[in-house]
Amino acid sequence: MKPTEAPIPSENKQRQGSDHYIIAGPCSAESREQVLATAREVAQLGINWFRAGIWKPRTSPDSFEGIGSPALEWMAEVKKEFGLRGAIEVANARHVEEALAYGIDLLWIGARSTVNPFTVQEIADSLRGVDVSVMIKNPINPDVELWTGAVERILRTGLKSVFACHRGFDVYGKSVYRNAPLWELPIELKRRFPSIPMICDPSHISGIPSFISMISQKALNLGFEGLMIETHRNPEEALSDKQQQLTPTQLQKLLDSLQWKQSHTENADYHNRISIMRDAIDEIDEKLLDLLSARMETSMRIGFLKKENNLPFYQYDRWSEILRHCSSHAEELGLHEDFVLKLFSMFHLESIDIQGE
Ligand code: PEP
Ligand code: MN
Repeated sequence: MKPTEAPIPSENKQRQGSDHYIIAGPCSAESREQVLATAREVAQLGINWFRAGIWKPRTSPDSFEGIGSPALEWMAEVKKEFGLRGAIEVANARHVEEALAYGIDLLWIGARSTVNPFTVQEIADSLRGVDVSVMIKNPINPDVELWTGAVERILRTGLKSVFACHRGFDVYGKSVYRNAPLWELPIELKRRFPSIPMICDPSHISGIPSFISMISQKALNLGFEGLMIETHRNPEEALSDKQQQLTPTQLQKLLDSLQWKQSHTENADYHNRISIMRDAIDEIDEKLLDLLSARMETSMRIGFLKKENNLPFYQYDRWSEILRHCSSHAEELGLHEDFVLKLFSMFHLESIDIQGE
């Protein structure tokens, strides 16, 4: 896949973490006073992107669905008064048209819209020939192809400033997170579009303030280019997502406590040493693949033997014995037992498939 040519607009870089984008502001614009008061405090932190949802996609029609168009005026005021660039969610062509008329700088496509190619295409069509930044949140469900397709639809408009946003995924079953991070998905999207900045939204992943720091740090450790964090002057009074919003003071503490990473280094010693270690990893990977291939070949021979003797391929006691052996050996080697068991389950399933063939 051809990576986007979209440059990282350097004038948007932040003071904290120098190379990172930070977008802060309330889940929803609720009143002119709330927007301006929160924006003032956000601007005082040296942040220059301000978010606020004005059209809110809500599960229940009885929930607060946003102020709508009148809040655009407040976002324009925020820009004029504090120099903050505005970011809002858009979900159709009318939203785009109205946002552009008020000089909103960044339009994000929400998780509920990314799932729908018709919606994304409608938004993309309304963006042709305009100059604005667009951020595509991951779809609600863990589907990297859907996310990729949405990014491609936006890139095909010719827009130069395109961002992706990781806000976690709705998965079946219990999770400590509001939306499971499933880091492998944003990592894969970054691999497909290396020059599109990936912004993490730890607020919607966490659902509560206590995980926000850990999720933010993990995103920075993975080389994400920024954070979008819901910040409300008084979270307890928020009309949406009140459990997860930080106060500006909490936001400042968070930003001060994070370990910000640089995107690259000129340190020659680092480059020499990492290249030696990467050669070593490449060699080990080759050996692993050789061993894996030998394992599968032996497995195939076992398959023929079982077939000759009319025995089932899956033999439970043998599989239990492998698991027992692997977990005790993993412990001796200081490897995480969970990881080794997951790996061997995959080997085992593949072996059964091969024997079945
Ligand atoms: C939001 O950012 O307020 C929002 C609605 O996000 P998402 O689309 O990720 O649920
Ligand atoms: Mn929200």
